[in-house]
Amino acid sequence: MLTIDNLSNEIDGKAILKGLSLTINAGEIHAIMGPNGAGKSTLAYTLGGRPGYAVTGGSATFEGADLLDMEPHERAAAGLFLGFQYPVEIPGVSNLQFLRESLNSQKRARGEAELNGGEFIRLAKEKAGLLDLDMDMLKRPVNVGFSGGEKKRAEMVQMGILDPRLAILDETDSGLDIDALKIVGSGINAIMRKPDKAVLLITHYQRLLDYVKPDFVHVLAGGRIVKSGGPELALELEREGYGEVLAA
Ligand code: ADP
Ligand code: MG
Ligand code: MG
Repeated sequence: MLTIDNLSNEIDGKAILKGLSLTINAGEIHAIMGPNGAGKSTLAYTLGGRPGYAVTGGSATFEGADLLDMEPHERAAAGLFLGFQYPVEIPGVSNLQFLRESLNSQKRARGEAELNGGEFIRLAKEKAGLLDLDMDMLKRPVNVGFSGGEKKRAEMVQMGILDPRLAILDETDSGLDIDALKIVGSGINAIMRKPDKAVLLITHYQRLLDYVKPDFVHVLAGGRIVKSGGPELALELEREGYGEVLAA
């Protein structure tokens, strides 16, 4: 589904990713862990096509297409979803308006029929139910006055509605209490743990991985994947720290 080969980039002339390679197949859940400043968010932004993240070498292929050659909205329409550590607030636009327009613009880009109002509301109710988020929350402006947990749950409702092939979730667990973590974890499983989908979870802590069990765990350090393993690698990192594990 996603093949990243020897990817390098720079921000403001400073090299961040330095030859990163990673392959994600349909049906797989991958976790990336790594020290602060390793380049984890940079990887997510670069795959999403954020301006200013200049690719200087390597390639990224998504479902057979050259991802790096696509505009951000084309990447989204092709089935790539990015979840961010700090979701933006959009005063004056309700969640439901925002979600419906996001979904329908992707459907237009793919040449699919748009959902009418009734169809959309049914879909939104179903996905909000998965995240235990009240529909009244979705009538409010996007993220304005939402708690950290509500923002993350609303973002996972968005993921459910957009129904992506690949979700890249950057520190989705940050700022969540245990109850919210459970709800978000089970939402990710319900929406994304399917044979034709894949997830890249970027996380500092292993606790999210108790709820969303990864098939592979990778350590990103110095702009590259320096170690890969199974779920046990996350436990080892939590126990011993990056220094110990990377020195071994
Ligand atoms: P992580 O998510 O792993 O903590 P980041 O990808 O956020 O790491 O950052 C990787 C490196 O890139 C850090 O050294 C950070 O200071 C640098 N960096 C990130 N964004 C910018 C930016 N906009 N301008 C300059 N340097 C940046
Ligand atoms: Mg960080
Ligand atoms: Mg980060």
